[in-house]
Amino acid sequence: MAGILFIISAPSGSGKSTLVAQLRTLVAGLEFSISYTTRAPRGSEENGREYHFTTREEFERMVAAGDFLEWAEVFGNYYGTAVSALDHAKEAGKDLLLDIDVQGAVQVMRKLPEAVSIFILPPSPQVLEMRLRNRSEAEQVTSETVIKSRLAEAKNELKQVWDYKYALVNDVLDQAVAEMRAIVLTERGVRDGVQGVAADCRTDVASSKLRAALGTFER
Ligand code: ADP
Ligand code: 5GP
Repeated sequence: MAGILFIISAPSGSGKSTLVAQLRTLVAGLEFSISYTTRAPRGSEENGREYHFTTREEFERMVAAGDFLEWAEVFGNYYGTAVSALDHAKEAGKDLLLDIDVQGAVQVMRKLPEAVSIFILPPSPQVLEMRLRNRSEAEQVTSETVIKSRLAEAKNELKQVWDYKYALVNDVLDQAVAEMRAIVLTERGVRDGVQGVAADCRTDVASSKLRAALGTFER
């Protein structure tokens, strides 16, 4: 059975990483694609866990070698999803989550139209700013320019929401996690055709199989 590819995009600071981490504790069989990036590690990030941290030269070599399913320049750094991440998830029989920006998402939607896209919105610019500030304080890298540029970029990215199949607002965390879980389980149900199977068992549909079995008792 083919794995599902979930594309998840959100303006930086919306809470996408937090949501994805919680989702993975609740739903089994989800693999997270570790992207390549030329940005420096932040806070407690480790090479090979949050990202594969690399140089611009190495990244460009990988682009030329066709190693990426998609890649984009975001906030002055390169980010990309390696084709091998898809192969790895397929071999492991898992669904794959891609946490990528809107430019990368468009590339994947074109190449793999069966991918399921989810956009996460922050509830308001005020809340987004607060989350960006809280995070940078926690990571001890408060830069006014970085916060301002991420807020400005958020306004642009939000315009793309209608290109995605699903969207949710990350206001109350538990609710947003429940919505993400529902989307994943629904899409798995669609892939496995379980809705159709369940519908055939409904008594108000009264399938021919059901009638035939009942009929044998009336003879
Ligand atoms: P992203 O991955 O989208 O850049 P993060 O997951 O790093 O964002 O979240 C940014 C900040 O907002 C973090 O400090 C995180 O703890 C906080 N956060 C995330 N979701 C919520 C929420 N629903 N309510 C309050 N704070 C949140
Ligand atoms: P951050 O530096 O905050 O981790 O990520 C910045 C932005 O880059 C986020 O919008 C994130 O989704 C995006 N991003 C992370 N990995 C990839 C990737 O592999 N490809 C693309 N296109 N964007 C990515």
